[in-house]
Amino acid sequence: MCTLTPGNLFLLPCSAACLALLFAAAGVEGRAAASPATNRPMKSPPPASLDSEDFRRARDALVDREVIPAGVKDPAVLAAMRRVPRHVFVPEPLRREAYADHPLPIGHGQTISQPSLVALMTEMLGLSPRSRVLEIGTGSGYQAAVLAEVAGDVYSVEIVRPLAETAAAALLRAGYERVRLRIGDGWQGWPEAAPFDAIIVTCAPEEVPAPLIAQLREGGRLCIPVGPAGATQELRLLVKRADGTLERKASHPVRFVPMKRAAP
Ligand code: SAH
Repeated sequence: MCTLTPGNLFLLPCSAACLALLFAAAGVEGRAAASPATNRPMKSPPPASLDSEDFRRARDALVDREVIPAGVKDPAVLAAMRRVPRHVFVPEPLRREAYADHPLPIGHGQTISQPSLVALMTEMLGLSPRSRVLEIGTGSGYQAAVLAEVAGDVYSVEIVRPLAETAAAALLRAGYERVRLRIGDGWQGWPEAAPFDAIIVTCAPEEVPAPLIAQLREGGRLCIPVGPAGATQELRLLVKRADGTLERKASHPVRFVPMKRAAP
């Protein structure tokens, strides 16, 4: 079990140099005290050495055969799905399965989500290149990379330290160095970076966390699976009204891993 420090920030000193380097490079909070105005995601394709014509073709086939038929229409989201090298975010032995439309294990009992669901949830957020978006549940870092293609500033919180470390390295390798990562309990959101135009939660709490509602701007969108662990949950799209309450726009049955809670 990793020990979370108050504020859940650097979690040094063990392997401090290495972690600090990874995290700083991936924009993990700390160095990332860099001004938000400069926090533009990289739009350039991943280094050629990481990608291949076969992988590119497989991504195109995935988008044409699974993502578009699933109902995704937003051109920016479809372009992101064609561009982000999902194989960089899955464990090495599973790389050849990276462009099949299903979740894959990433260790620690967690999974990288199914690509068509990543695309649908990203579309639900209604992002633009100026949006500030918060993800809860970094996992592999793949969803964060897709967000970075479509939005402006991307923040992501992961509670399992080794997953956050691997995600930071993958984001860096794939060129998404400006995504900001934090290790901690995403129930609390990322108050210092609020308000957000959109929040996406990729693990399922039993109820909508109040801090996330508070950190959403008026008119902002929250995409979140809600429901008991081990059962089908409801993926909700919620929009924050002027009076601070949430309007429910849509809901679909889904199955996500449960949201864990940090020990108080
Ligand atoms: N978005 C991920 C998939 C995430 S799977 C991807 O693209 O790969 C759900 C993730 O949520 C897991 O990594 C899990 O460790 C994380 N998680 C669970 N509870 C959490 C919490 N309270 N705060 C932050 N992350 C949490």
